[in-house]
Amino acid sequence: MRKTMLTGVRPSGSLTLGNYLGAIKNFVDKQELYDSYIFLADLHAITSYIEPKKLKHAIKDAIAMYLACGVDPKRTTIFKQSDVLEHGTLGFIMTFQTKISELSRMTQYKSKANTCHKDGVDTGLFVYPTLMVADILLYNTHIVPVGKDQQQHVELTRDLAERFNKRYGNTFEMPDVYVAPVGNKILNLQNPLEKMNKSDDGNNKGTIFLLDDIDIAKKKIMSAVTDGYNRVHFDEDNQPGISNLMSILSKITGEDFSSIEQRYLGRGYGEFKREVAEVVADLLRDIQAKYRIYCDEELQNHILVEGAKQAETIAKETLFRVKQSMGLQ
Ligand code: ATP
Ligand code: MG
Repeated sequence: MRKTMLTGVRPSGSLTLGNYLGAIKNFVDKQELYDSYIFLADLHAITSYIEPKKLKHAIKDAIAMYLACGVDPKRTTIFKQSDVLEHGTLGFIMTFQTKISELSRMTQYKSKANTCHKDGVDTGLFVYPTLMVADILLYNTHIVPVGKDQQQHVELTRDLAERFNKRYGNTFEMPDVYVAPVGNKILNLQNPLEKMNKSDDGNNKGTIFLLDDIDIAKKKIMSAVTDGYNRVHFDEDNQPGISNLMSILSKITGEDFSSIEQRYLGRGYGEFKREVAEVVADLLRDIQAKYRIYCDEELQNHILVEGAKQAETIAKETLFRVKQSMGLQ
């Protein structure tokens, strides 16, 4: 039997180079090998307030982006999370299997709760990992390609699946996380101690959006914060900015770090940044040309209707099994 792969992105803003290199590219590269599912995590997008118009736009943007980045609807089921009601029900059930202490430990919760919520922290931010647990378990998923920031949530999924299976009998498949060795945490270009995020970079200078104007994207790379060592060398602790640019280059071209270091022996940061800027520009040009084709609303609706039908079939079967195990059915 073929194994199953699943991933998703929150339509909480325009997609970034981090989303592409950390999650979508890895998914696309493997989509032929698995029964593949990719979803628009719109229920995750409403864990904090998002203006309805912005959400609607971000959903359309994300589906066009998935297609432009190479997700193939003939091989992959593409669907919107809120179209498959089982996500909510299983999310609710899995929340009840979870300890408050487990959710309090999640680093994404801790970092987001600390920074951006003067009027109190939204419950959504606290409980969304259990919805993610449901997203993964509903499809009997074997492999979940995500960026490093989401690794802990997939580990929580394993813990909860194991707990549930022990308590109620074997019900869930055990998922594995796939965090690629390179590009799993693309950093903010202006603050290379922070991850590049699609939704919270004040002036956007540190974030490359996949739809950025090409010249602006290049400027962002050219003005990326580096260091005073003036050597192109991979050292995440002491040279996070340069290491970040090396990760971007390596992930896009496939060239390894030592080869990049060799080529730039004795050469300055200016030349190196120019190469990274050109490589990123080529990638964005390619994605943007395809994106324009996939903005077609009719095409998008067709894909989402078909996707929801396919996803629902599996999700319903799993939820039925869960209810049987628990005595609800
Ligand atoms: P938000 O600010 O809305 O949380 P985000 O950029 O973190 O946006 P998500 O929708 O939370 O995006 O995550 C989608 C996928 O992209 C996840 O698999 C996540 O791990 C991955 N990802 C997000 N940011 C990065 C990054 N900077 N580097 C590598 N992978 C990333
Ligand atoms: Mg995120």
